Amino acid sequence: MKKFTDPAKLQKWCRGVKAKGRKIALVPTMGYLHDGHLSLIREAKRQGADEIVVSVFVNPVQFGPNEDYEKYPRDEKADWKKCREAGATAVFFPTPANMYLERHSVYVTEEDLSKGLCGARRPGHFRGVCTVVAKLFNITHADVAVFGQKDYQQAQIIKRMARDLNFDIKIVVAPIVREPSGLARSSRNTYLSDEEREAAVAISKAIYAVKEGDGAAQAKRKIAAALEKAGLNVDYVECVDAETLEDAKKAVKGTCVLVAAFCGKTRLIDNRLI
Ligand code: AMP
Repeated sequence: MKKFTDPAKLQKWCRGVKAKGRKIALVPTMGYLHDGHLSLIREAKRQGADEIVVSVFVNPVQFGPNEDYEKYPRDEKADWKKCREAGATAVFFPTPANMYLERHSVYVTEEDLSKGLCGARRPGHFRGVCTVVAKLFNITHADVAVFGQKDYQQAQIIKRMARDLNFDIKIVVAPIVREPSGLARSSRNTYLSDEEREAAVAISKAIYAVKEGDGAAQAKRKIAAALEKAGLNVDYVECVDAETLEDAKKAVKGTCVLVAAFCGKTRLIDNRLI
């Protein structure tokens, strides 16, 4: 497995791979890898990629000033090992300084799907995400990029960005990997105490208690009540059209139920496609 830290070197290597007619898959991550990330690497393999590039980069531009950029968990050694075991062929560990050169001044903003949900609660977040992902697409010349449904709004925004900016890349969205308790796997779960981890199970329980055909307002109220009962602080509960992310009236096929909630100080997100 190859290791890159310099974007220019990775770009040059990827250009060589493509010149041989070989297919590249990209799996963008912020590291501290868990089974959810590894499922994306396996999906990249299933997509028939000859080279699977995993990027591990805690992207400062997508964090708000009062968010957890500094304390976000990092473990390069463990990530390296997990990438190799899962079948990656190259890992990209850039630094903020070599991703954002002095006087970096160009950003990518998506202006429709980013308006609500996490976009409303985390101003600038998706601008940071789109910018770094666009850079990774250009650095790797990837044929396919794999994202997780865990970050549902993010995946929709990336698909829109690729479409609207004519990136010649296939975007694949892989299902949410959960802990046996139902809790969606997340690098941020490491922040949770044992009690918080138990309480956090209420999120997946509540979204899976929604029945197809339930009214959206009633479903949202029920979820919020269940989360509060478990001691969580609701950031949002929404039921939206899965494509447009506009409010839905009913939880029917083609809608998505999304939750963001604070468990202690940790903000967790989860969703379910009905
Ligand atoms: P992150 O490192 O949290 O930025 O996530 C990197 C990629 O892994 C994103 O596309 C996420 O949606 C995806 N991902 C994170 N957690 C999970 C999970 N539990 N199941 C599936 N994909 C995930």
